[in-house]
Amino acid sequence: FDMFVLAFLERLFRPSFRKDDFVLGKKLGEGAFGVVYKASLSNPKASSKLGDLVLKKATEYGAVEIWMNERVRRACANSCADFVYGFLERKSKGKGAEEYCLIWRFEGEDTLYDLMQSKEFPYNVETKILGDIQDLPKGLGRENRIIQTVMRQLLFALDGLHSTGIVHRDIKPQNLIFSEAARTFKIIDLGAATDLRVGINYIPKEFLLDPRYTAPEQYIMSTQTPSAPSVPVATALSPVLWQLNRPDRFDIYSLGLIFLQMAFPALRTDSSLIQFNRQLKRVNYDLQAWRRTVEPRAAPDLRKGFEILDLDGGIGWELLSSMIRYKARRRVSAKAALAHPYFNREGLGLSVMQN
Ligand code: ADP
Ligand code: MG
Repeated sequence: FDMFVLAFLERLFRPSFRKDDFVLGKKLGEGAFGVVYKASLSNPKASSKLGDLVLKKATEYGAVEIWMNERVRRACANSCADFVYGFLERKSKGKGAEEYCLIWRFEGEDTLYDLMQSKEFPYNVETKILGDIQDLPKGLGRENRIIQTVMRQLLFALDGLHSTGIVHRDIKPQNLIFSEAARTFKIIDLGAATDLRVGINYIPKEFLLDPRYTAPEQYIMSTQTPSAPSVPVATALSPVLWQLNRPDRFDIYSLGLIFLQMAFPALRTDSSLIQFNRQLKRVNYDLQAWRRTVEPRAAPDLRKGFEILDLDGGIGWELLSSMIRYKARRRVSAKAALAHPYFNREGLGLSVMQN
């Protein structure tokens, strides 16, 4: 069988649903292009099998998001929230536009954003990954290990997407959900994602992107690349373009900012991140220069970030510096980052009990 036959058969034998099959619960999110609800199947027997679900009603971009989720499920299922089904719901009596519905398994209550808002961060993540553990002394070394474990999970998920040819383009704490079942973070919200290998959603939609976490380059592909096919078409794009423009490094920059926020309590609010972005731009995206300007007069919860990243000979700071760089091609890839010496030390696991 080839890929397409398998995909077709899988699609044929998977249960299919209509909107009436679901009962909507509380609203989880609302953006310009869709609304997200907690949901469950109205049929109790089927519902107990599938458990809690998430339902997104999406407008025109729903088609791309369904396509991306189908592709992720076949190519790198562990990277993203478990996708159940997606369909087009035709509105009756012709009023309004067509509406897409997307269904996932409900992975858990907390995004990385929610967890980072708590004063307990990163210990609240440690509890989630390890289950209830004894009250051990808190300290920089322990926090570093938790952050390291989260970074490894996030890079692993991102490497899966990138190896599939997908650039997410909206990596931010709100789009990283903690999966209670897998005890790991997963990526959600593929609405702005782009699959460069087959040209789906190739045209950058900058207006969809979140300015707080976007890399300095406006377009993830140079504007000199051959004119993009209109969405969605399935003409294979040369992997050479991928090599040339390193579009995946757009996500790496965003993840670098998340790494920064995890290490620096002082940079976790929106306003402080926006201020950081301004300061970094002022020093031409030279992270070392930024450090020189702020460190001498840093308040304790800014200094703490430097202290964490300076552990083990500054190996964390080194990794961060290789992610937050102006030029995309000078940023480390997700795969190379996973091999970075920062991850040589053991992360969360049994050893944390002994320290
Ligand atoms: P948008 O950002 O376009 O509103 P998202 O796909 O990011 O849509 O979903 C909105 C919110 O819903 C997320 O930030 C998260 O809190 C929650 N959510 C989305 N998918 C899941 C899931 N599979 N499991 C649990 N919560 C989810
Ligand atoms: Mg989102």
